[in-house]
Amino acid sequence: MYISTRGNYPKATAAEAIKLGMVPGGGLFVPERIPVLKEEKIWQMSGQTYAEVTQTILELFLEGYQTEEIRNIIRDSYYSGNFDHEEIAPLRKLDESAHVLELWHGPTAAFKDMALQIMPRLLSAAKEKTRTKKDIVILVATSGDTGKAALEGFKNVPGIKIIVFYPHSGVSKVQELQMTTTDGDNTYVVAVKGNFDDCQTAVKEIFADREFNDLLRKRHMEFSSANSINWGRLLPQIVYYFWSYSRLLNKGTILQGEKINVVVPTGNFGNILAGYYAYLMGLPVKKFLCASNENRVLTDVINTGVYDRRREFLKTSSPSMDILISSNFERFLFEMNGHDSEKINQWFKELNEEGIFAVDDSTRKKMQEIMAGDFATEEETQNTIKEVFESAGYLLDTHTAVGVRVYKKYVEKTQDRTQTVIDATANPYKFNKAVLEAIAGTEVVSKDEFSLIEKLHHVSGMEIHRGLSGLNSKKVLHRRVVERDELRNVIKEILGFNDK
Ligand SMILES: *Cc1c(COP(=O)(O)O)cnc(C)c1O
Repeated sequence: MYISTRGNYPKATAAEAIKLGMVPGGGLFVPERIPVLKEEKIWQMSGQTYAEVTQTILELFLEGYQTEEIRNIIRDSYYSGNFDHEEIAPLRKLDESAHVLELWHGPTAAFKDMALQIMPRLLSAAKEKTRTKKDIVILVATSGDTGKAALEGFKNVPGIKIIVFYPHSGVSKVQELQMTTTDGDNTYVVAVKGNFDDCQTAVKEIFADREFNDLLRKRHMEFSSANSINWGRLLPQIVYYFWSYSRLLNKGTILQGEKINVVVPTGNFGNILAGYYAYLMGLPVKKFLCASNENRVLTDVINTGVYDRRREFLKTSSPSMDILISSNFERFLFEMNGHDSEKINQWFKELNEEGIFAVDDSTRKKMQEIMAGDFATEEETQNTIKEVFESAGYLLDTHTAVGVRVYKKYVEKTQDRTQTVIDATANPYKFNKAVLEAIAGTEVVSKDEFSLIEKLHHVSGMEIHRGLSGLNSKKVLHRRVVERDELRNVIKEILGFNDK
């Protein structure tokens, strides 16, 4: 069963939690108890496929879903031509102790596909299980990658409409075109004149808005979320932490029970939180490294215990991590403070009203035992892309480069040579301008992002991700641009509330 981090909702089934997305009235669904895997189950994974590992993990969290049903969902999500690698998420060795987990082999070239291929199918099934006759309206706030991955996952799914809000000049050109060229008769894409935090805050307010929810109910509709505030997003992400461990076992790089370190380029704290749940389930992890870009709010809170979003929002070359309000940090704190919803309510009220809160000492200490936080500057990120390309012949995207840099800093500081998995969260072609600038110098870089895809191919020799070629010749189908305070109106317009 699933409970609210704010203690304001009755226990819900997996299907209910996934269908609702967020707790009505605020708060996030978390598992009441985390199931722990028997050690042998983890060791056995070294001989399993990605599908088998996924089946094991998903079944533990999806009571009410049948084994066969889950098997079909996994097959349709990962094995119907959507992923271009048979291992789904291959692990590549970078040096003697670092391994990069490529999570970008899905249709939209970012790790979001790992969850957003599965989640729409879980949601469709949840609709049946909860006997909802209502149409579901998915609201998505995106810093660039969730938007396209969710559009692909939900496009043309019967009984579901999806509306994506992205920051007007806060995503890469490739990301923008990926979204605005999406077809499907149930997809809507809206540019918002603001940053990601503005989009996410507005969407969360709408979820919690009674009157607006009543308006929908009268028209036989209800809201849900495809952001990582939805438990259905986090669950499929737990899988690849076990998977990467199983690959290291399989290659004989580690022994059964040997602890690994895990590095995650982080924005909304969803991906790294999934890793932490894997740890609670028994995965041998020594340390998680939470890697931020110059929007280093998480670095600071991990090191000091003070969450302070009162700072300038910076636009960086890793836009998917340009976030100052990391939603899933709430779930993490709930685990750290022993499920104390009163404190969670108090902290997030302070964050909302004053922009700052401080956790208590025991929460801070518990957090620092398992997690280290650091960040990479723009210059460090660029240099890392260049260094790794020149020394290992491997091309990193800007987000993954933040992770690699933070990893290197950590090793320098601690001399900790534990075998380490670094999440590669996007394919480099998604951020070709910044990547090309890094490996070839600024002088070769022109204004046209699409000639740059070819150029990057020429310079790097890396195969162009199939989801990105031909993008510039596709027709732009979505042109809405709105002010920050116009989200409610545009939703009403899209849903036809203003029509007679
Ligand atoms: C979304 C995203 C991130 C951040 O992941 P969170 O789960 O939000 O922490 C990092 N890198 C890329 C490329 C992303 O798309």
